[in-house]
Amino acid sequence: MDRPLRLTIDKTSLAQNWRTLAERAGVPAGAAIKANAYGLGAREALHTLAEAGCRDFFVSIWAEAEELGPLPEGTNLAVLHGVGPADMEAASRSNARPVLNSVEQVARWKLAGAGRPCDVMIDTGMNRLGLRPEEVGALDGLAIDTLHSHLACADEDHALNGTQLQRFREIAGSVQARRYSLVNSAGIYLGRDYSFDLVRPGLALYGGIPRDEAQAEIRQVARVEAQVVQRRTIRAGESCGYGATFVAEADVEAAILNVGYADGYLRGFSSRGTAFAGEFALPVLGRVSMDLIAVDCDVAPSLGEGDWVEIDYDLRTAAEASGLSQYELLTTLGSRFERRWV
Ligand SMILES: *Cc1c(COP(=O)(O)O)cnc(C)c1O
Repeated sequence: MDRPLRLTIDKTSLAQNWRTLAERAGVPAGAAIKANAYGLGAREALHTLAEAGCRDFFVSIWAEAEELGPLPEGTNLAVLHGVGPADMEAASRSNARPVLNSVEQVARWKLAGAGRPCDVMIDTGMNRLGLRPEEVGALDGLAIDTLHSHLACADEDHALNGTQLQRFREIAGSVQARRYSLVNSAGIYLGRDYSFDLVRPGLALYGGIPRDEAQAEIRQVARVEAQVVQRRTIRAGESCGYGATFVAEADVEAAILNVGYADGYLRGFSSRGTAFAGEFALPVLGRVSMDLIAVDCDVAPSLGEGDWVEIDYDLRTAAEASGLSQYELLTTLGSRFERRWV
């Protein structure tokens, strides 16, 4: 059935961003495809990136691993949250490796993992997931494929970056693993000192700009479009939408669009978002509703019912307009969109 809102995902740009990031890092790049590939579609992202040459994929939980279905030839998958008490059954059915995050998870894997390879996360200063450096003695006897750590502040010039790099170097010198991996998208732009053997981008694959350095080379991947439900004239002095927060100073033409906060177009865009009809910019008028928004279409006299307009979803400018992070902008995109991979 035709849907009145659509998300178009550009495979060529996704693959190109992956190549750009690997080239920038100077080492192989994996791909974080957790959270349904940041809202875009995990299976399609997996197959598109595998075709481009990506071999290493990451999800957060075992249900995500299962939903991917069979992996393409030559690729491998790791589950970032490791194995909790209830995960061993799913883990033993799966070909994916857990990323072990605590002494408890290590013990669980040693007991039931039958010597299968695993990854390990070391906490070098973020205090989210991972073994503390002084706990690495617990790793003796594990077959570690990739030893990871994760930067807390890679999108900023923060002193913790250098501290975490130094700590990870020390750990890498004392713990045996096939590969070592430290950085996400933003960390790739801190320089090749941070690359080790494998980088783990997510956001920048999908068009996010994690640091200024990425702006010139990362391409937009996802485009959001919505159909006009109706066109109307808001007369001078009248308001539009919940809370009557927009009041027309003079008569204004409005197009009511088939997208709202239930689709992930959150209320931060109220009176701040923009849509485009061709090159005409159409500012959002008043509050975003659950399923609808109103935009000023004075500049587009022929725009009417059934026409498509593009919502400005350039991640950097949309983040600035809405106060949402680029991660939130992608991962909240809802299930009502027709997702078209082109
Ligand atoms: C999500 C995640 C990534 C990818 O991060 P981006 O900032 O989206 O590039 C990399 N590593 C770990 C451990 C993650 O959890």
